[in-house]
Amino acid sequence: MALIVDGKSIALDAKEASAEMSFISHAHSDHTRAAKASNVIASIETAELIKAKTGIEADVMQMPKSVQLLDAGHILGSKQFFIRSEELGLDITYTGDYQLQESAVANRIQLRHTDIAILDSTYPYPKIKFDPREEVTSALQKYVAEKLEHRIVLFGAYATGKAQELISIMNDVGIVPVVDREIAKLSAVYNKFGVGLDYCYRYGDEARFRESTRGTFAAITIMPRIDAVKESLSEKYRKRVLSGVATGFAKIFRFKTDVQFALSDHADFSQALQYIEDTGAKEVYTYGGSSELFARYLRNAGIRAGSFRHGSFGVAPVVANPIPKQKGIF
Ligand SMILES: [Zn+2]
Repeated sequence: MALIVDGKSIALDAKEASAEMSFISHAHSDHTRAAKASNVIASIETAELIKAKTGIEADVMQMPKSVQLLDAGHILGSKQFFIRSEELGLDITYTGDYQLQESAVANRIQLRHTDIAILDSTYPYPKIKFDPREEVTSALQKYVAEKLEHRIVLFGAYATGKAQELISIMNDVGIVPVVDREIAKLSAVYNKFGVGLDYCYRYGDEARFRESTRGTFAAITIMPRIDAVKESLSEKYRKRVLSGVATGFAKIFRFKTDVQFALSDHADFSQALQYIEDTGAKEVYTYGGSSELFARYLRNAGIRAGSFRHGSFGVAPVVANPIPKQKGIF
């Protein structure tokens, strides 16, 4: 996905051979395809996380004057891309993954006036509404603390973002989880930027806190390993292991775990509406898997919205699902 502003071609979380610069909003792998490109625009936290994950040192360029990076509230270092088009006299903001609720391990989102918003469509459905973060967090803390009386509790999570959030949530009630190598490596980057996470990074190191939890402990592993780790912990410690996930998709799917918490790092539909209202965006373009559906729901809510594909603002049509004809820039 790319856009052309004032004659400059900018790749947005994508690898585009013709792009003069490539914006990487954050370090989740579906957004870092341009990590090896020249002239990367990314936060220093994102560059560090990419290096820790892949060994790639991104060629981060000096920021052009017309561009600003705004916090997106999603994970450490996640940014929105804000650009002022002098030719069009318009401000354009691309959100990347974003949320309006405040995570314990990411900066709160910065909302700035914009004329055009290009919005992530991870959660397009108006009926999906995330509960207040404090409620989900305290339910999770209560569950873990209670179950640790007699059992091992194991969460599966993304290695970047959700795992660190789970560590922080557990730390807040005095629990120090054991995490796997991948999560430890990325949590070290979080700590380098002052997040202050307390964790053990090898199964076997849990002696450090077993005394306080009567021989049990909490653990976090990457999602694909959850079943294997559950089995090996259960065999090794001869205790029941309870598994859990913490993801916004818990609002939509039933996971094969003992418990699931709808803790999301994305905006739901109501947060998207709030974003549009707070930024004053007059035209909205959606992108991602459900972008056309999301645009339709936004139009139903009275927003001038279309699905973003590829193109040049003010030069060529950019919408696959065109915005109803009104006076605009397209
Ligand atoms: Zn993400």
